Amino acid sequence: MLEFDKLSLNVPPTTKKRVIIIGGGFGGINVALNLDSRDFQVVMFDKQNYHAFWPLLYQVATAGLEPDSIAEPLRKLFDDKDDFHFRLVRVTGVDPVEKSVQTLIGDLHYDYLVVATGSKSNFFGNAQVQKYAFPLKQMTDALNLRSQLLQCFEQASITRDLDVQQSLLNFVVVGGGPTGVEMAGSIAEMRTHVLPNDYPGLDFSRMHIYLVEGLDRVLPPMDPESSERAHKYLTELGVEIRLKTLVDTYDGQTVVLKNGEQLKSQTLIWAAGVTGSLIDGIPAESIERGRVLVDEFNQIKGLSNVFAIGDLAYMKGGDPEFPNGHPGVAQPAIQQGQRLAKNLGQLMRNREMEPFRYFNKGNLAIVGRNRAVADLPKGVHLGGFMAWATWLFVHIFYLIGFRSKLVVLSNWIYRFFTYQRGTRLIIRPFVRKEDIKQQEFLVKNEMV
Ligand SMILES: Cc1cc2nc3c(=O)[nH]c(=O)nc-3n(C[C@H](O)[C@H](O)[C@H](O)COP(=O)(O)OP(=O)(O)OC[C@H]3O[C@@H](n4cnc5c(N)ncnc54)[C@H](O)[C@@H]3O)c2cc1C
Repeated sequence: MLEFDKLSLNVPPTTKKRVIIIGGGFGGINVALNLDSRDFQVVMFDKQNYHAFWPLLYQVATAGLEPDSIAEPLRKLFDDKDDFHFRLVRVTGVDPVEKSVQTLIGDLHYDYLVVATGSKSNFFGNAQVQKYAFPLKQMTDALNLRSQLLQCFEQASITRDLDVQQSLLNFVVVGGGPTGVEMAGSIAEMRTHVLPNDYPGLDFSRMHIYLVEGLDRVLPPMDPESSERAHKYLTELGVEIRLKTLVDTYDGQTVVLKNGEQLKSQTLIWAAGVTGSLIDGIPAESIERGRVLVDEFNQIKGLSNVFAIGDLAYMKGGDPEFPNGHPGVAQPAIQQGQRLAKNLGQLMRNREMEPFRYFNKGNLAIVGRNRAVADLPKGVHLGGFMAWATWLFVHIFYLIGFRSKLVVLSNWIYRFFTYQRGTRLIIRPFVRKEDIKQQEFLVKNEMV
């Protein structure tokens, strides 16, 4: 058993400049991979020991992929990098005056600090929705959701109460961005291809999937043509779309929409927005709209030698083509990480840093088999099979690690030919803390 007060960060002293990177996501790993070990000692802190490929998280949630296939241990990613030190620890704060990073097991001095903590779900202050909704932002969220979806079908197949059964078979996805669209499409495909075989006693014509979006179209960040296509694909799959509609309340049983409509559902999936994962110690005047203000070099406004990249960073007015900041997707985080590593090398040599300029490689979203949309550079918009094939290729290409590429590809080939989803497992049942009856049921059944 570890004695808490005897733990320490245990990072060796160095004569080189020390770069501390908080977060091993898309931004953080691209800084570390591109820093020269001859110039810098690199220390990375993350509260999880893996780098995850979040664009495929919805497939974990819908039993298409195992969590391991979309994640790579951070230590493995850097096992051939000299003077790189990973510590599995949550950062609790930073002290820009003392130039130190604080964790529960000690502080560490930095010469340069990179904050790459990404974002977290934003419930827009709706505490009740936050309490009962299922977010999809972390691996544990996806596993909870996978258990919840499968438990709903198991319970629907054994209840004699038709109202309860209906609420188990209704799924409400809130947020019509890529994650919401992909979730809704994926559940709809399960209804067509997987569930009727698994639960022959259930009438799946009674299963409803609602997609609720506040704006006037799905996929608002994409071209209207792509939104229209995605809308059509979702409708073909039987997803019931509510546009210009906001959620008012949710008590775990009934979703009340602001237009007065009520949807009985035990599962509300929240994909409606994110906000920066802020760290204590960053001055309040450097924070705007939940993100950290940075200049064109990703340096946090008002601080020196402290940088923020990726979802957390708000480069307001710094990049002429993106005066309102960059979209919260993987490419800006990757490109900012790469640029920043080069700029830190420049700083070391007392040379000028280069401003960050985002190169938009395009946007993709998948609805289902042969149904995807793509906005590519030069105004090219693809749909159907071409966009679907592009989506598959891009996601395999950007997945980190050969093992992950192989596992995901073989899973997809298997699924393509069989329509099956191999990971329909309730390993760790999901149960709400308040649901005493269900807890008792699981304990009596020796399921937990
Ligand atoms: C479900 C989902 C689907 C997505 N789909 C797409 C898509 O299809 N295409 C696309 O381009 N983008 C997609 N994104 C967005 C994309 O994943 C993010 O834009 C990208 O991950 C941002 O990179 P980042 O480095 O800023 O943060 P992240 O990749 O989120 O990494 C942040 C890291 O910081 C760590 N961390 C946070 N706080 C602390 C702390 N206090 N102490 C220690 N460690 C900490 C976290 O554990 C995490 O490892 C999706 C995101 C999600 C959640």
